[in-house]
Amino acid sequence: MYSHTRKVGSLGRYGPRLGRKVREEIKKVEDDALKNRACPTCGSARVKRQFAGSWKCATCSAVFTAGAFTPKTRKSTASADESAKEK
Ligand SMILES: [Zn+2]
Repeated sequence: MYSHTRKVGSLGRYGPRLGRKVREEIKKVEDDALKNRACPTCGSARVKRQFAGSWKCATCSAVFTAGAFTPKTRKSTASADESAKEK
């Protein structure tokens, strides 16, 4: 089915506004936010963003805090990188 937002996805709501660089940044953040992440309680990948910093698992209804736009925080990502380096 043809959609007028086929190329730009969630950026379609901006219409002709904003430049390429800004759009790329927004798309990166939004795609990340919509990706399914594993729930820290049950491990299911059905975690949805409620609002900035609050995430809810659709399987076990666990609510937890994390990053505003992704269920990972920059700190947790950094420490994961560090532990990967140590190995
Ligand atoms: Zn869960």
